Amino acid sequence: MSEKVKVVPCSGIGKVHGLLARELALKVANELCAEITETPCLAYIVTEDPEIKEKIANGKCVTIDGCPKMCAAKSVAHAGGTVAEELKILDILKYYRGIQPGDATALNDDGWKIVDETAIKVAERVQQVYEGEV
Ligand code: SF4
Repeated sequence: MSEKVKVVPCSGIGKVHGLLARELALKVANELCAEITETPCLAYIVTEDPEIKEKIANGKCVTIDGCPKMCAAKSVAHAGGTVAEELKILDILKYYRGIQPGDATALNDDGWKIVDETAIKVAERVQQVYEGEV
């Protein structure tokens, strides 16, 4: 059996983009791909604890970042993990121009629609990563 795919959102707070990243990761990891994913804490990865370094060194990661700083993708790579897919909330929002998804504390109906629709696409990629196609 393959290693579970690590789905790692950034820890952005203060803007809706970080919230979208986290909710998207949770939808994929807890609902759509629960059997083949896990969600290690980004802060734990940043501290480069030997246990988490070993964990992410095995298998592949899908990162979801709220802004161009790309904290999740960079942190995983810095800790020795393999980022199979780097997702950017700003890229996702290009498909939803003009829509306000909520605020830093709560998504509105449009925000949840973005999460639900995007999670289906992300789940397909996660499945491909798990099966070694990516
Ligand atoms: S990627 Fe951007 S939003 Fe996410 S934690 Fe880093 S600075 Fe914050």
